Amino acid sequence: MSGLELRNIVKNFGAVEVIRDVSLEINDGEFVAFVGPSGCGKSTLLRLIAGLDKPTGGSIAIDGNDVTAISAADRGLAMVFQSYALYPHMSVRENLAFGLENTKVAKAEIEARIMDAARMLEIEPFLQRRPGQLSGGQRQRVAIGRAIVRRPDAFLLDEPLSNLDAELRVSMRAELAALHARLKATMIYVTHDQVEAMTLADRIVVLRGGRIEQVGTPLELYNKPANRFVAGFIGAPH
Ligand code: ADP
Ligand code: MG
Repeated sequence: MSGLELRNIVKNFGAVEVIRDVSLEINDGEFVAFVGPSGCGKSTLLRLIAGLDKPTGGSIAIDGNDVTAISAADRGLAMVFQSYALYPHMSVRENLAFGLENTKVAKAEIEARIMDAARMLEIEPFLQRRPGQLSGGQRQRVAIGRAIVRRPDAFLLDEPLSNLDAELRVSMRAELAALHARLKATMIYVTHDQVEAMTLADRIVVLRGGRIEQVGTPLELYNKPANRFVAGFIGAPH
């Protein structure tokens, strides 16, 4: 199949089972949101998909190929963290280029990608600045830009807007939707904000205690929540 497939994923930290038998298929180009309360395993699941951590059990396949033992760098995915994770001592331009410089991508191509991402995200005026000289929203754009220049097959975004104020969150939400429409890449988007999930996602995965409670389109979850927990979380009548 084309896309991402999680089969019976289990993750333990010591004696604690944090992800419990999660199976899920994500199609190419799909925008999928992982939602659920704090501590339910959203970030852990994303890190397992990214290859930043290894599952205790189960397997992960991309386009039909088992990547469970493949390193993060070779999975063709790019992660955007809640904390932005920018290098403070580097300029925005250097932050964007970092990670591409020691690959086969030619210098001119790196430059073209940087300019393309900078225009798309409207961060061109800040390319020479350091992250410390940027606002939260500008920093978040740089973090997204750093993922874009890598031309990943999928973007993994871990609560990328949660450090922004409410107004900015709403405008960045629209920008993410536009970005998805333009790049046509798969987006896996972790959030604890059900409004973000409902407005952005093609499908929503509701997690609780390391298990999937329900998977469906926003409308399916709203109209036919599997249980009171899902209904409560989505804000549907129950
Ligand atoms: P979420 O992102 O949904 O808030 P996490 O995936 O960060 O949840 O965490 C799920 C559970 O796993 C939590 O109970 C958390 O304390 C635990 N956990 C996460 N990472 C580690 C780790 N590296 N070592 C031990 N426990 C962890
Ligand atoms: Mg988290």
